[in-house]
Amino acid sequence: MGRAKLYQLDAIILERRDHGEADRVLKVLAADGRHDLLAHGVRKPRSRKTGHLELFCRARMLVSRVQNSWDIISQAEAVELWGKLREDFVRGTYARHVAELVLRFFEGETEPALFELVCKTLALLEETPEPERLLRWYEQQLLGLAGFRPEWRMCVGERAGQPCRAPLRPRPEDDHSYGIDFERGGALCPECAAQVAGANGGLLSPSALSWLQALQREDFAALVALPFPARTAGELARQMERYISYHLERRLAALRMMREYRREYRQESRADAGQGRDAERSESLNGDLEGGPGDGPEDDYGTSS
Ligand SMILES: [Zn+2]
Repeated sequence: MGRAKLYQLDAIILERRDHGEADRVLKVLAADGRHDLLAHGVRKPRSRKTGHLELFCRARMLVSRVQNSWDIISQAEAVELWGKLREDFVRGTYARHVAELVLRFFEGETEPALFELVCKTLALLEETPEPERLLRWYEQQLLGLAGFRPEWRMCVGERAGQPCRAPLRPRPEDDHSYGIDFERGGALCPECAAQVAGANGGLLSPSALSWLQALQREDFAALVALPFPARTAGELARQMERYISYHLERRLAALRMMREYRREYRQESRADAGQGRDAERSESLNGDLEGGPGDGPEDDYGTSS
């Protein structure tokens, strides 16, 4: 059988970069995996493909197979545009985080579940009033698909050379902190957490740990109505950024961009808002501001794959 020269692809555009005079190279995700494609002439004002191949949109494409080069997009029709992800800076930056994790953790062929997860997350990101909660859920689901599923239900620590494996059932009234161990990939019971003093992780509040368990176990719809305190949200954002950076051995560019944006936003609101409103805003944003990811090598999003 000869190779088909044309094939159809239903894919999400994760990254675009300009190529030559008027072309773009697109990194996309489809149900069967990642593809790098060339969109000829797409930057010309009269290209029929323009508007159908926007960042983070989902498009149906007809693609020509090319030997020893990128396959070429012959036709494209946008199926989902998710306009707010490009119009709204905050949502757009979170969409970048969604794409960045796919590009960093996966290459080549992937499970259809990854495509479904990314479609679902981008669709929810377009609407949700609480993108932070959604991102934390996405991260837990994605780590599972990538083969880095963290262990939040049983202690990953060791005592006297033996695995601890204590079941973890955090309650809000617990007066001990739990721990997070990046290297072993999971949570620590209060006794193990007290022993290691956070060289490779840190402490985890009972509320944050019970959220991690729920984010891993539940569908997002089941989590929407639960109270998600700002303090817990901030702790989860910090710890998961460090956790993921540790495993990728690099910093996460989109989350760093978001922190810088919020830092500026907070300075501006200090300068021009009323005292009471300012305090309120700082409170709600505070979670994300303190602390940064581990010292990984610098790499800006999109410069390599
Ligand atoms: Zn333990």
